[in-house]
Amino acid sequence: MFNNQLPLIDLHRHLDGNIRPKTIWQLAQKNHIQLPEDNFEAFLPHVQIVESEADLLAFLKKLDWGVGVIKTLDDVVRIGFENVEDASIANIDYAELRFSPYYMAMTHNLPIEGVVEALIEGVNLGRNKFNTKINLMGILSRTFGVEHCQSELDALLAYKNDLVAIDLAGDEYNFPGTLFESHFKQVQDAGLNVSVHAGEAAGPESVWHAIKKLGATRIGHGVACATDPVLMDYMRENNISIESCLTSNYQTGTIKDLSVHPVKTFLANGLTVCLNTDDPAVENIELAGEFQVAREVLGFNDEQITQLQRNAVQMSFLSDQEKQALLTIKV
Ligand SMILES: [Zn+2]
Repeated sequence: MFNNQLPLIDLHRHLDGNIRPKTIWQLAQKNHIQLPEDNFEAFLPHVQIVESEADLLAFLKKLDWGVGVIKTLDDVVRIGFENVEDASIANIDYAELRFSPYYMAMTHNLPIEGVVEALIEGVNLGRNKFNTKINLMGILSRTFGVEHCQSELDALLAYKNDLVAIDLAGDEYNFPGTLFESHFKQVQDAGLNVSVHAGEAAGPESVWHAIKKLGATRIGHGVACATDPVLMDYMRENNISIESCLTSNYQTGTIKDLSVHPVKTFLANGLTVCLNTDDPAVENIELAGEFQVAREVLGFNDEQITQLQRNAVQMSFLSDQEKQALLTIKV
């Protein structure tokens, strides 16, 4: 399915999009939160995609119960720990887990910095128990506007040594990157890497902006890049890579037919692109299955699969030494 000689790496994986449905159910009971159904089976479609959604916003709604049941910082610790366990169960060697602390904090008014701290604590518990190497990325949830993103950024920057990058996620169409230039100036001043969700719900201009004005060296999804050959040339020449998420793009309605997913175009144009899950618990998928989709639906051969895995090593926010170490665990 994937190349066993190379590490299995997930670089685009939302920690708050991967809260186990069972955990959501249990936290709701513990925290006395009313759910829309009185049995787990009936509740599952509220937090997991059944086929696909009309658009990105409808997809994102499925994530809301997961954060809606978080009432204490201990809940955040648990979710952090379980995310590392899930990556380990999925045989992932290295993951960059991203999370939006404001999104996790907002329903029950938890302190945003407290959420960041609790999450790091939970992930550290997981790191001590499981072999999967983990780094964390902070997210600014653009959907909640410029000011909330500044509070979110302040909380994240207070723990910047525990993070490798900052991302911009959420409603790309209604909250364009142009609103967040000052935020990403601060991110760059803090010496953190930048990855931005762009070209998913908006066009290639959103990707150009993320690269030129927000300092992105990686683009989440970047589906729209395929429509702009000049942009693809620029990305190849300037080492800007793409985090592709096949099933997610289908489930959000971004791609109507998976067999023509632009990851093919990206590889053919020599771009550095890799495969990722996005929100595995919501999508009901895991990373190995995405490689299976690449083979069976997109018709990728061994060479293309190997290239995607090599790209993931190269694109990761790891030092050269850590990349070498990751490669040697497989031989
Ligand atoms: Zn994403």
